[in-house]
Amino acid sequence: MVRSSALSAALDAWREILGVESVVEDPGLLGEAATATFATRQRIPAIIRVSNRDQVQRCLEVASRRGVPVYPISRGRNWGLGSRVPVSDGCVVMELGRMDRIVDFDEELAYLTVEPGVTFRRAYEFLRARGSRLFLNTTGASPEASLVGNAVERGEGAGPYGDRFAHVCGLEVVLATGECIHTGFGRFGESGLARLHRWGVGPALDGLFSQSNLGVVTRMTVWLSRLPRSLHVFRFSIRKRERLPALIESLRRLLQDGTIRSGVGLWNDFRVLSAEMRCPWPHPSSGADAASRIAEAEQRAGAAWFGLAATYAATAEQGEAHRIHVESTLCPVVDELSIESRAGDPRSGEELFAETDPGLMFIQGMPHEASLRSLYWRKASAPEHPDPDRDRVGVIWACATVPIAGAPVAEAVRVSEELMPARGFEPLLALVTQSERCVHLVSLIVYDREMAGEDERARACHDELLARLCSLGYLPFRLGIHSMGSLPDPVDDYGRVLQRLKRALDPSDVLSPGRYDFRGTWKASS
Ligand SMILES: Cc1cc2nc3c(=O)[nH]c(=O)nc-3n(C[C@H](O)[C@H](O)[C@H](O)COP(=O)(O)OP(=O)(O)OC[C@H]3O[C@@H](n4cnc5c(N)ncnc54)[C@H](O)[C@@H]3O)c2cc1C
Repeated sequence: MVRSSALSAALDAWREILGVESVVEDPGLLGEAATATFATRQRIPAIIRVSNRDQVQRCLEVASRRGVPVYPISRGRNWGLGSRVPVSDGCVVMELGRMDRIVDFDEELAYLTVEPGVTFRRAYEFLRARGSRLFLNTTGASPEASLVGNAVERGEGAGPYGDRFAHVCGLEVVLATGECIHTGFGRFGESGLARLHRWGVGPALDGLFSQSNLGVVTRMTVWLSRLPRSLHVFRFSIRKRERLPALIESLRRLLQDGTIRSGVGLWNDFRVLSAEMRCPWPHPSSGADAASRIAEAEQRAGAAWFGLAATYAATAEQGEAHRIHVESTLCPVVDELSIESRAGDPRSGEELFAETDPGLMFIQGMPHEASLRSLYWRKASAPEHPDPDRDRVGVIWACATVPIAGAPVAEAVRVSEELMPARGFEPLLALVTQSERCVHLVSLIVYDREMAGEDERARACHDELLARLCSLGYLPFRLGIHSMGSLPDPVDDYGRVLQRLKRALDPSDVLSPGRYDFRGTWKASS
């Protein structure tokens, strides 16, 4: 923890900048901010609530001068990965939620420029209120999650532009020193090009500010997709796990030939059951009954894996051609396939499916809370508005990047489906095709934090699972605050160079120390 004299001097300075009410030291609120969906030990000495970029700059300048570490969050819905809790002990949390302006919107050039407090729900309502013909893909996370928070974590959504960080530009970033920079063309002032062109001219710095601790992103442009005139939604399932490799191979072909241009989601039986019901088995499970539970889950859910894909087309003819190709490619490799089709005039600015079915909402960028209910799998019931931190829901993400080919996907899935039950947890798995070359595997360890010993067991299961997946070459694409130190050591000078960058941009080492900086490898490489 930082020296108390330095902290109290920083708190005094922040009160002057922000006003007394925006510097929070209430133990109850600090305790809530220090609560995640798994056990944490980090203490948070204060929360500061900033309202504009100037305040961010001045507050960080104070933090650097006083040597007080600060951890910025946008909306703090990083559930399963650490919620609002900083990676290191003793950080002051900087809440950016009050910076919630939609700064710019262009219907023709299809973008939205937002501050960190803008949520998926807000962006959705903004577009619909204007009758826009555009949409923003959404996530399975909370509608109250932040566009900027999701992008800087390199999150992903369903629908076109699912790889979020690949479809943002024009970042405005405040460094720990208080300096401000803009990526792309943004350094030339309010050039409209900054919102259209990712690289600008010269070294592209955007990547430095995703999954990093090198700056606070205070503004970002997010690209939007056109609502299609023709939308086909494909739901499919395979009854037996053995069919997964062939399905993956077929999906890769559809992605690589450009027929499907959005992420395809696949959920195993346990994950689907968790959205529909509470855990039907006494828990924790023992390794011995793992195989029988898998068979029972297949039977209860009606299949082993369920998939959701969509084609978005500009004309009915184009859409129909896509439908025929997807149908004929998937039919031989699935047991069930249903197709829902809609054609409409996107000028009406309305979704083609007005239903409240979560899958259809997901495909059309309509935020919803349905997938969050699955987190209450081991609880007696799920509330209407889930808040896993509040409800002591246990959830830990363990994720892996896997080549989009049958054999590796089957292997990575098998590791999770064997190891998790052996450690007492049902394997709640999702596969999301991140590109036409890789698929993301997300294994959710879901439990009840009220049960004695479960926090420790879940963490041990996570660590073992991640280590096993890494040893097979399936490295995580994202890390939680609990797993920043879990990667293999670099075989090159990455650690040394990252250390130099950190020192150059944050000489006092006050910005989110430990977040994706892999400082455990610095000593070895310096
Ligand atoms: C059931 C479930 C489903 C989920 N589905 C998805 C999904 O489909 N896709 C997906 O991507 N994620 C998903 N998540 C994970 C997570 O909930 C989301 O990624 C969510 O968007 C993160 O919360 P947030 O947007 O409020 O970001 P925050 O919690 O505000 O930010 C995340 C982290 O980024 C850093 N950060 C935030 N803002 C800034 C900033 N302005 N400058 C610098 N650093 C910053 C901070 O270190 C912070 O801890 C899911 C989680 C669960 C439990």
